[in-house]
Amino acid sequence: MQAEDNNQTNTKWVAIIGGGPAGLMAADVLAQAGHSVIIYDQMTSLARKFLMAGRGGLNLTHSEELELFLTRYGQAASHLRPMIEAFSPQALREWCETMGEPTFIGSSGRVFPRSFKASPLLRLWLRKLAAHNVEVRLRHRFISISHSGEVTFATPQGDVTVHPSAVILAMGGASWARLGSDGAWAQALHEKGVALAPFKPANCGFDVDWSQVLREKFAGTPLKAISLSFGQIQVQGEMMITHYGVEGGAIYALSAPLREAILAEGRANLILDLRPGLSLADLIHRLNEGRKGESRANHLRKAASLSPLAISLLREKGPLPQNNEALAQLIKSYSLQLTGVQSLQRAISTAGGVAFSEMDQNLMISSLPGVFCCGEMLDWEAPTGGYLLQASFASANWAAEGAKKWLQNLK
Ligand SMILES: Cc1cc2nc3c(=O)[nH]c(=O)nc-3n(C[C@H](O)[C@H](O)[C@H](O)COP(=O)(O)OP(=O)(O)OC[C@H]3O[C@@H](n4cnc5c(N)ncnc54)[C@H](O)[C@@H]3O)c2cc1C
Repeated sequence: MQAEDNNQTNTKWVAIIGGGPAGLMAADVLAQAGHSVIIYDQMTSLARKFLMAGRGGLNLTHSEELELFLTRYGQAASHLRPMIEAFSPQALREWCETMGEPTFIGSSGRVFPRSFKASPLLRLWLRKLAAHNVEVRLRHRFISISHSGEVTFATPQGDVTVHPSAVILAMGGASWARLGSDGAWAQALHEKGVALAPFKPANCGFDVDWSQVLREKFAGTPLKAISLSFGQIQVQGEMMITHYGVEGGAIYALSAPLREAILAEGRANLILDLRPGLSLADLIHRLNEGRKGESRANHLRKAASLSPLAISLLREKGPLPQNNEALAQLIKSYSLQLTGVQSLQRAISTAGGVAFSEMDQNLMISSLPGVFCCGEMLDWEAPTGGYLLQASFASANWAAEGAKKWLQNLK
């Protein structure tokens, strides 16, 4: 093992471990305040998950009213509130604009960068960090941290130990490990006695025991503009049929309670309204209008505007009811049994991580003075819609502000 030869050894400097959006934001805040910063990452390039997030349109945050926005974090909302108030969705939009990548609000209220992608924003960001002399050490895998703040990395040249004045941990969750966020950091923190909530998949897919016909014909097809209910929660949106079951935006919005129900009881019953725009009475009325020799499926398609997928879904329950009231009931409250949770590996995000009870109000780990935590490695979860990146950015800003105070008080 060697002590790393860096030019920061005699001055105060901050090690940021993990170069995803949270780590880069922490670096940004600290470097702008004039601090020396080195970002360490185990990959050969930074922010791979951020780039992946930008593939289908980088949803940076959401434009809804802040009180509603905060409810998306469930039990963690009270912890995240001061951080999101300090670095709000509006502040995030202004930060992007200042960087040269203005944002726009989509029809759903979601906020995207002008280019829709992550790569232009990342390029500008890395250029800005370099201009502030932020250094980057790639292929440095964090393996341990001591109570006195020494950090050891595994590198292709062997293990390296550094002793920064402050450390910001920003190593992400444990999904999509091939992008760098493998959750292996949890072991090192556990060994230091830091309590962690177990990792669980969030914004993930669920298993359904589809018939072979439905699976072969419709895997990859979305069921659009439906309403999904589970317990007291109802969401509108799109659900994608997959070979294993279901995924997609509306499913992700319910993924936390669905996951917990399946983990507790082995199954969860989701109620679908396949025609949320029509009342039950209107639907019955439409179905009662003459069929004139049409097949039942054709009549359903025309009278109830159901897609071939929706009609096949009804058929999963057996022959279509002859009685129109029963048929309308089936369309308006279709019970879909979910039998399993897809693995963490393919989940959009991770629930669980460093417990808030382990950190002080500045996100410093109480048992590791000078070591701060932020981003998805903290114990919070939220649906898709920009809430994941917003909390990652806001908690990183907060941890960096905490580190600034810590550095100020150092002799
Ligand atoms: C397909 C997909 C689409 C998404 N789309 C969106 C979206 O549109 N909007 C949204 O809000 N969110 C989205 N997300 C989620 C979002 O990307 C994450 O919540 C966010 O990247 C978390 O940021 P982070 O910096 O905390 O962690 P990460 O982005 O995971 O970064 C962690 C970094 O730490 C490094 N690291 C990990 N372990 C170690 C170690 N031991 N040593 C050194 N380095 C380490 C990793 O290499 C990585 O660079 C998406 C995620 C996926 C997978």
